[in-house]
Amino acid sequence: MATIFTHEFNTPVYKGKTSFNTGLYINGKFVEGSDKTTIDVTNPATGKVIAKIAEATAKDVDIAVTAAHKAFETTWGLNAGGAERSRLLLKLALLMEEHQQELAAIEALDNGKTFTWAMDLDTTFAIDTIRYYAGWADKIHGQVQETDEKKLSYTRHEPIGVVGQIIPWNFPLLMMSWKLGPALATGNCVVLKPSEFTPLTAIRMCELIDRAGFPAGTVNLVTGYGNTVGAAISSHMKIDKVAFTGSTLVGRKIMEAAAKSNLKDITLELGGKSPNIIFNDADLEQAVNWAAHGIYWNHGQACSAGSRIFVQSGIYDEFLEKFTEKSRSLKVGDPFDVDSYQGPQVSKNQYDRIMDYIQSGKDQGATVHLGGDRNGTEGYYINPTIFTNTTPDMKIVQEEIFGPVGVVIKFEDEDDVIRQANDTVFGLAAAVFSQNINRALNTAHRLKAGTAWVNCVNQLHANVPFGGFKQSGIGRELGEYALHNYTAVKSVQVNLGHVM
Ligand code: NDP
Repeated sequence: MATIFTHEFNTPVYKGKTSFNTGLYINGKFVEGSDKTTIDVTNPATGKVIAKIAEATAKDVDIAVTAAHKAFETTWGLNAGGAERSRLLLKLALLMEEHQQELAAIEALDNGKTFTWAMDLDTTFAIDTIRYYAGWADKIHGQVQETDEKKLSYTRHEPIGVVGQIIPWNFPLLMMSWKLGPALATGNCVVLKPSEFTPLTAIRMCELIDRAGFPAGTVNLVTGYGNTVGAAISSHMKIDKVAFTGSTLVGRKIMEAAAKSNLKDITLELGGKSPNIIFNDADLEQAVNWAAHGIYWNHGQACSAGSRIFVQSGIYDEFLEKFTEKSRSLKVGDPFDVDSYQGPQVSKNQYDRIMDYIQSGKDQGATVHLGGDRNGTEGYYINPTIFTNTTPDMKIVQEEIFGPVGVVIKFEDEDDVIRQANDTVFGLAAAVFSQNINRALNTAHRLKAGTAWVNCVNQLHANVPFGGFKQSGIGRELGEYALHNYTAVKSVQVNLGHVM
């Protein structure tokens, strides 16, 4: 049986208590799953179970979809005006702000990211995102088209209906806010599934959503496994759209399920193998610092991680020396220690997956220049790892590792590096470092990626669109662009005097 999760934080960076129901949140109530089974949630810093949450089934997805449809037809959708949707989203942002430290502490406990990062980035950005979309809720405008004087033709951007949202474990609260913000601002109802590895902030958020005053059924949370609950969402005949963030493998399954069921609309934010290109004329110290942030941020568990670091031959040796020094200086340790930069990987699965990639790099003949090993004896910590002497066909050069593992590759000139950088099935993000503005912008334009950073890496803002080219995804999150994923355009044509 799902229970109340209570945890007392008595850490150097945060002291406080949290306590909340760990049931499913359906139709405005916390309930058990139909089978009354639970899922164990572990703390990746210790590998120990910290909570039991309700496990949803396909039947619970059905119940949630029914509740969402009812809300859509009665209290939400076109029944709640833009000003009301905006008011409720703003209230939610305020409640998140009031509980920011608590949310950050739960995130650090459940995911293993440091409390400091969870405060400065995850929770801050999540609040900004909800507030940003609150601003859009009463600005959802269609157009008027000029046809002729005896006709009025205009478009309405209507909410799609009930949307399924499936989110991953790397930025649990942040991905929830990226998904909820545009969906709710445009009047859709939501059935959301967090990753079973990191469900706690999503569950905690449901109480805040309730307190903010969203009508029952507007947001429903079904915590469960991907192959049951995730599959039920993506193949549901009464879910009109699915938004997903996660692996390319599962993205494919979702697209297939959407095609085989009701041809629901999909947006996919998938993996990456982002190039980070550093020219001879870059500010070397800055390039080193950003490159470290690019690959080690969130323990490398970021879809945009700058995992392929291309360095021009003139500065390669010096860069490698300074980058190694920087990597060594990053403290791997408990997420609640004051000076920890990198915590544990999220789960035993992920830890094993990364260690397998490291082994494959060794087996295929690359050099482990730094790290490549476990940190400590408890939990899922991995030391910052640098590979050199790689070849383009190696798995560690081609596949998304999703861990603190970077490859440093030498290049000669612009054409050479563009060819290597674009030699991937992914196209999520890329970065270029150069003090020559022409070179920097020319390179940024030639890279096949949804985001190109110039003299920085991993910069994201609520109002700037984010998403992938190629197999990194379909559609854009954030900014005004995300609103288009959640509205259906209707043309209305009115006859003002044509006679038949
Ligand atoms: P997944 O893609 O499996 O998980 C993402 C979400 O999809 C989770 O909520 C998961 O649920 C759900 N899911 C799993 N199977 C299905 C399905 N058949 N239908 C619908 N939903 C499903 O990622 P993993 O956790 O397995 O991580 C593996 C790799 O994926 C990582 O190493 C990384 O390379 C990549 N990844 C990329 C992310 C990104 O931001 N682009 C985020 C996370 C992972 P459940 O957890 O219950 O299985």
